[in-house]
Amino acid sequence: RVISVSAQPIETGAGERGAVAVFHDITDRKHVENELRGFAGVVAHDLKAPLSAVRGYAELIVEALGDPDPDAVEDAVRSAGKVMAGVDRMHTLITELLDYTAARDATMRVEDVDLRELVDDVVTTRADAPGMTGCRPDVFVGGLPRVRGDRVLLRQVLDNLLGNAIKYTPPGQEPRIDVTARTDDTGTVRVQVADRGIGIPDGEHAAVFDSFHRASNGTAMPGTGLGLAICRRIVERHGGHIEALPNPGGGTIFVFTVPAAAAEQPLCENVHIF
Ligand code: ADP
Repeated sequence: RVISVSAQPIETGAGERGAVAVFHDITDRKHVENELRGFAGVVAHDLKAPLSAVRGYAELIVEALGDPDPDAVEDAVRSAGKVMAGVDRMHTLITELLDYTAARDATMRVEDVDLRELVDDVVTTRADAPGMTGCRPDVFVGGLPRVRGDRVLLRQVLDNLLGNAIKYTPPGQEPRIDVTARTDDTGTVRVQVADRGIGIPDGEHAAVFDSFHRASNGTAMPGTGLGLAICRRIVERHGGHIEALPNPGGGTIFVFTVPAAAAEQPLCENVHIF
């Protein structure tokens, strides 16, 4: 914990001199300051670089449009592609920064939520996304019970975990993801998302939940290092915890806990939905 001390000299009526010391626990404030420093660093590097690139490519487009050489059209089209990629990158980063603050501050709307419905929705949306055409992740879903929580936030946790499972599976290898859940007798549901991707190096499993942290083997993929920090915030707001473990068959297993819906019966069938 971080403590700050302030002291004020005092004198009693009897002429005795002393001081009053006040101890402030500023751990939370320090945490917010560190976070803001992290944000500022990311904004400086990850937003400024694509912004300069976009500006540079926009200039090239303007030049190409004034160039009578017919090949200049191709240059303009190529530069326009780079502009779009840069804008997409900035859009992702800004969305994740907003999600990150929303994960902490958004008012929770707690209700009974069907996990199976959320997984189906995430998989369908991701499979239909541009770039995923012809590559439906192979998702096996065990019996998923109903849980008690905020539908939008829990969907975001599953979206981040499934998205990472796809992203961190080497190209050319069809992503294979197993989503299963178990309810224990304390009313807690343990949800498990297992992939067969590149895995996380030994000793780095805990750190991947820190904001802006990326594992040493994952930096070739685009990313901000915010997705799992968002997941941890959301899960903790539901009174649960989240961890990453090595998958004995290769890859990674993410496990998070959430409260079960009232009178929920665990299901046990295994269904291949995609
Ligand atoms: P991002 O993917 O944007 O970098 P995340 O916070 O979602 O950020 O993940 C943090 C880091 O954890 C990633 O950079 C990657 O190194 C590692 N990681 C996350 N999910 C997986 C996964 N399923 N397989 C392997 N590594 C992963």
